[in-house]
Amino acid sequence: MSDQLQELYQEVILDHNRRPRNFRLIAGGVTQEGYNPLCGDRVLVSMNIEDGIVRDVAFEGQGCAIAKASASLMTEALKGLTVAEAQERFAQFQSMVTSAHDEPPADLGKLSVLAGVREFPTRVKCASLAWHAAKAVLDGAPAAPVSTE
Ligand code: ZN
Repeated sequence: MSDQLQELYQEVILDHNRRPRNFRLIAGGVTQEGYNPLCGDRVLVSMNIEDGIVRDVAFEGQGCAIAKASASLMTEALKGLTVAEAQERFAQFQSMVTSAHDEPPADLGKLSVLAGVREFPTRVKCASLAWHAAKAVLDGAPAAPVSTE
């Protein structure tokens, strides 16, 4: 990856960390907590699914820059998708952040800014925390908080 591209990616992550999008809880939505004990990231993902479509998705919580930026980018990425499409996006994201270093990461548009975390296994958990919480909601009745451990 060129230095210039890396800088741009860094900027997007810092921007979403500073000004997270959809940082709120949805009244009447389904809420799922996610916790990453390794880093201390804790997020609440809130979702409103109607007629099989993710009408709204938001989050609250505290965490490192990667966890917050990833949650913020996720809310933008999932909104408006069908449940099946959102589950597919989760799978694509997971595979991007866990793919081998020497393989080019899948191009997931804006989400690609997080591909760099695959170089840092502990950061993969930060980046995927909100996604795991969202996946639990997409898969049906969430129960216990999801943990990365
Ligand atoms: Zn973290």
